[in-house]
Amino acid sequence: MASIREFDDRQWHNWHLTERDVPIAARFELHRRAGASLAEMRASAAAVQGLIARAFAERRRLRAHGATWSFSAAASVPGGWPLGTGYANQLFPLPETHVPPGFQGDRTGLVLCQTGISVAELNMYLEPRGRSLATSGASNGQTLVGAMSTGTHGSAIDHPAMQGQVRAIQLIPAPDRNLWIEPASNPATDGRLAADLGATRIVDDALFAAALVSLGALGVIHAVLIESVPRFLLETHRQRMLLTPELHAAMAGGDLAVASLPGADVGQGPRRPYFFQSVVNDHIDKGWAYVTAAYRRDWDDGHVLDYALRSRRVAGYNLAVVVANLLAAAPGLAPAITKAVLADQLSPIDGRVLSWGQSFNFTTPRAGTAGAAVAVPADRVHDVLAIFQAALRKVGKAPAAFACRYARQSPGHLAFIRAPFSAIVDIDGIDAPRTRALMAQALADLRAAGIPHAEHWGKLNQATAASVRDAYGDDLERWLKVRADLLDRAGEHVFGSPWLDSLGLSSPHF
Ligand SMILES: Cc1cc2nc3c(=O)[nH]c(=O)nc-3n(C[C@H](O)[C@H](O)[C@H](O)COP(=O)(O)OP(=O)(O)OC[C@H]3O[C@@H](n4cnc5c(N)ncnc54)[C@H](O)[C@@H]3O)c2cc1C
Repeated sequence: MASIREFDDRQWHNWHLTERDVPIAARFELHRRAGASLAEMRASAAAVQGLIARAFAERRRLRAHGATWSFSAAASVPGGWPLGTGYANQLFPLPETHVPPGFQGDRTGLVLCQTGISVAELNMYLEPRGRSLATSGASNGQTLVGAMSTGTHGSAIDHPAMQGQVRAIQLIPAPDRNLWIEPASNPATDGRLAADLGATRIVDDALFAAALVSLGALGVIHAVLIESVPRFLLETHRQRMLLTPELHAAMAGGDLAVASLPGADVGQGPRRPYFFQSVVNDHIDKGWAYVTAAYRRDWDDGHVLDYALRSRRVAGYNLAVVVANLLAAAPGLAPAITKAVLADQLSPIDGRVLSWGQSFNFTTPRAGTAGAAVAVPADRVHDVLAIFQAALRKVGKAPAAFACRYARQSPGHLAFIRAPFSAIVDIDGIDAPRTRALMAQALADLRAAGIPHAEHWGKLNQATAASVRDAYGDDLERWLKVRADLLDRAGEHVFGSPWLDSLGLSSPHF
C-alpha cells in the first residue's frame, strides 16, 4: 500500500549542493507498492492528504520536490517539511474511449504519470511503445512534475517548454480536496479517470494555467496527464563554425535556411532543424560558435533503443569541485579551463541518429556546477549576449560560458518563456564566486537596459518581488488570484516558502 515515510532529518540539500545546510523540521518520502493500479493511486493521494492534514494542524510548511535538480531555492523549505516524490512513479495509458470526441490533440498518446516519474523513466516507457516526448530539457534526471513546475525547456524550436505537453493535473491543495484539473478550452478526458482517481474534476482554463507552472505553491501535484507524439529519430550534427552574418541573423530568429547549419543540406535544399543551439563566447573564442542542429527523421523499425549511459565523465563526479577550488586559487586560469571544457563538452557530432530519449540522456550530476538562464524575445539575443560579455569583463575571469537555445511561448501564467519566439540564454559554469558575481552583474545590467526578460525559476537567479512583477505583469495577478481562490489560509501558508515569500508569491503569515 502507498505510504509516507518520515525521517528524523534536520538538514536538507539539493542534488547539486547549491542549496545546502537548509534547516528542516523533518523529511518525508512518498512510496508506492510494486505494480500499477488505480487503487494504489487513490491510496497514494489519501496518504498525501494525511500529511497535508498534519502540516495544516502543526502549521508546518510542506514542499513536494522531484529530483531536486533545481539550482535555485525552488525546492527548499527552511523550517519546514520536504516531501520527496521520486518513488511514486506509476504510469497508465489512457484508453482512447475516455477521450472526448472534440479533443484537439493526439488521442492515442495520452499517458497518466504519477508525480515521481522522471523524464528518463518516461522516455523508456514511451519509446518502446511507439511514442515519444516532443520536447524535454538537455538531461533526463528531472521529474516531469518538477520540470513543468519550473517551466523547464529544451531547444525544440517549434515547441513550447515541457509543460506544453501536459493536458490535465491532479492537484491536492488541502486535506479534504483532491482535484483533477483540465482546461475548459480543450478537455482531454470524459471525467471517468478523475472518478477512478477519487478526484473532483474541475474544467477551468485559469486554474489549469496557474497549476502548469506552480513552484509547489498550489499544493502537491499527485499526477499529470501528458500527450505524447509518435516516436521519431533525431539526426544530430555539431560543429564549431565561423559566426557568419547569416548565422548571426539566424540566432536572432532570422532565416535558418541561409545559415548553413551543420547537416542542413542533404542535396534537396536546407532542412529545418527540430533542435537548434548556438554557443557563442567572445571571451574565449571570438568570432566562432559551437552550433548544434538536429533534424527530425521518421522512425526506423531497425533502430535499437539502448539507453546505456555514454558519459565519459562518470568517474569525474566531483571534477567541477576540483576545478572550482583550482580557480579560487588561480583565477587567471579561468578562460583556458573554460575553453578546454567547452571544446570537450561540445565535441563535433556528425549525423548521430538516436531517439529523443537517447539524444537527451543522463548528465552525470556534478556538485560544483551552476546554471542561470533568462528567456528573451529572440530578436534581442545579441543585445543580451553583448550585455553578458560586458558583465564578464566587469567581473573578471569567471569560469562560465553562454549558450543560446530557442523555444516557443509556453503555456502557464508563470511560464518564463514569454515571447512568441524566445531565445533562452544560459550562463553555465563552475560554481565559483566569480561565476555567481557574473550572474548577478549580468542580470543587473540586463534589467538596467530594459530588455524584456524572465529568469528560469529552477536555475540560480536574481529574482525579486519587483522583477517578478515586471516580468509577469497581469499574468502574475491572474496566478495570485487563482492561488487566493484555491487555498484557504492554512494552505496559503503551508504551500509557501521563504523564497516564494521574498518574491511576493506567498506570505510568511499563517
Ligand atoms: C544537469 C542539469 C541540467 C538541466 N537542464 C535543463 C534544461 O535543459 N532546461 C531547463 O529548462 N532546465 C534545466 N535544468 C533545470 C531543471 O531542469 C529544473 O530546475 C527542474 O525543475 C528540475 O526538476 P526536478 O524534478 O529536480 O524538480 P525539483 O528541483 O525537485 O523541484 C522544482 C520545483 O517543482 C516543485 N515540485 C516538484 N514536485 C512537485 C509536486 N509533486 N507537487 C508540487 N510541486 C512540485 C518543487 O516544489 C519546486 O518548486 C537543469 C538542471 C540540471 C541540474
